[in-house]
Amino acid sequence: MSFQSLGLSDALLKAISKKGYTEPSPIQEKAIPPVLEGRDVLASAQTGTGKTAGFTLPLLHYLSENPKQKFRPIRALILTPTRELAAQVYESVKDYSEFLNISSTVIFGGVNQKPQVATLRRGIDVLIATPGRLLDLHNQNLLSIKRVEVFVLDEADRMLDMGFLRDIERIMKLMPDKRQNLMFSATFSKDIRKLANGILNQPVQVEATPENSTVDAISQKVYRVAKNKKTGLIIKLISEGNWKQVLVFTRTKHGANKLTKKMLSAGISAAAIHGNKSQGARTKALAGFKSGKVRVLVATDIAARGLDIPLLPHVVNFELPNISEDYVHRIGRTGRAGANGQALSLVSADETSYLRSIEKLIGEKIEIEIIEGFEPDPNASTEPVKPGQNRQRQHSKSNRSGKNQNKRNNTRRRGDRRN
Ligand code: AMP
Repeated sequence: MSFQSLGLSDALLKAISKKGYTEPSPIQEKAIPPVLEGRDVLASAQTGTGKTAGFTLPLLHYLSENPKQKFRPIRALILTPTRELAAQVYESVKDYSEFLNISSTVIFGGVNQKPQVATLRRGIDVLIATPGRLLDLHNQNLLSIKRVEVFVLDEADRMLDMGFLRDIERIMKLMPDKRQNLMFSATFSKDIRKLANGILNQPVQVEATPENSTVDAISQKVYRVAKNKKTGLIIKLISEGNWKQVLVFTRTKHGANKLTKKMLSAGISAAAIHGNKSQGARTKALAGFKSGKVRVLVATDIAARGLDIPLLPHVVNFELPNISEDYVHRIGRTGRAGANGQALSLVSADETSYLRSIEKLIGEKIEIEIIEGFEPDPNASTEPVKPGQNRQRQHSKSNRSGKNQNKRNNTRRRGDRRN
């Protein structure tokens, strides 16, 4: 299949070929036609599948083929959970709209709002935003989304994990009822389906990878190791393997900082990326990692979500996540675009139950290896360490508000039909 046969405009085809894409990825092949038809779409796709172009290309096609003459209201809103993802989606929108008369911008928190407001004033067709800053500027009457024709909810599962359900609910009320809705999510949990029911109208469902399954191109391995020998082991693996670009996951921000310091003292260039870092520090760390200056990026789950790092060869779980789905998200960062990736997990005795749940979720046993000098501690307890309590609280909060959201939206929809 070619991009031409999808019916995209010449200006878009030119931008696509400038990016060097020769054919649509599976998610693009499946999502572009229904979006072009104006249908609502619920897509299951992880970062790395080409999902951004999957919604951006048909969205830009629609906007440019149906121009608004007099003034420039915001016609498309793309909502993302993190600042990094927002910035990346904006870059893609800019690239794909290079040969179109379409303006776009991105707004997110953690930076001065003034330049964002100045750009908005000039008139914007496509707005990419994180929920907090969008509501913030709306509350100050600095933007209006009451003429939005297409709404994209990107990484909906992470939106729920981060407790954004109420914000999404508020944002929905600010847009007109009649609009096209596109929702992307890496996993299809019960909560995601509920959210989808509230937002989407008879959606077409498309899937890029089977639900919760790991990509075949990724080789997975577990190193059973004593907790206090993990740092030594990861330094050995990186140094002896001469790995140039490794994404390492820790469960906590503190853990990420601590490990980064140890790497630096061992002479390995490393940077941490997590929620307590300023926007500037995060951007710098990511840029350093992408350019190859920083060999090791140590990240927490939320910070790493949506980072666009093509062809990542190594992902290491320094600690296993206590939420099994996060394992699938984490290792989905490697083995992209047909390249082989390696996902390694350092597992101590107290993480045994996490490992079991992950294996249950992915439906396979992960190969185990023990490295001499870094053996597991036979006397260590297999009781799990206390899980990150914040994450747990956020989960139950979004579950509860999920029910309310659904009820409210169902009510609104019934009302719509009567009108
Ligand atoms: P995404 O899943 O949207 O984050 O995209 C992952 C990466 O794939 C990005 O670096 C895109 O530039 C790239 N990409 C998107 N579509 C294609 C395509 N059809 N062919 C090759 N690369 C692509």
